[in-house]
Amino acid sequence: MKIALIAHDRQKPLMIKLVTAYQPILAQHELFATGTTGQKIIEATGLSVKRFKSGPLGGDQQIGALISENKIDLVIFLRDPLAAQPHEPDVNALIRLSDVYEVPLATNIGTAEVLLRGLDTGLLDFRTIVHDQIDTPINL
Ligand code: PGA
Repeated sequence: MKIALIAHDRQKPLMIKLVTAYQPILAQHELFATGTTGQKIIEATGLSVKRFKSGPLGGDQQIGALISENKIDLVIFLRDPLAAQPHEPDVNALIRLSDVYEVPLATNIGTAEVLLRGLDTGLLDFRTIVHDQIDTPINL
């Protein structure tokens, strides 16, 4: 499965705890992350992570584009509920697209743990049905 990991700055320590605790599960999957989150995950765990731009510089939108092509199966987005973000529209767009494409999404650590445990027992296998389904492919 393809998993997107994003954490706002004050949530990054929590993300590191999460990926460290679930490293054996995460290591079996393809990981994607916004720039700084990905860098910190790599430094802390050595996991292989494909990094996009930093969130405020377009990384959320890059991940959103993948979601719209059914190329992301699970999103863990530890956003900061107590601070406004300069790229709030991008944050909302990513979350909205997760709902449009029915991609399991966690925005806090409690849900993230449930989803990762579910992933490990095959609860997300339904995603293989829609892998790479693109309604309106754009040929650039
Ligand atoms: P970052 O981006 O991982 O590059 O910090 C996350 C975000 O703010 O959306």
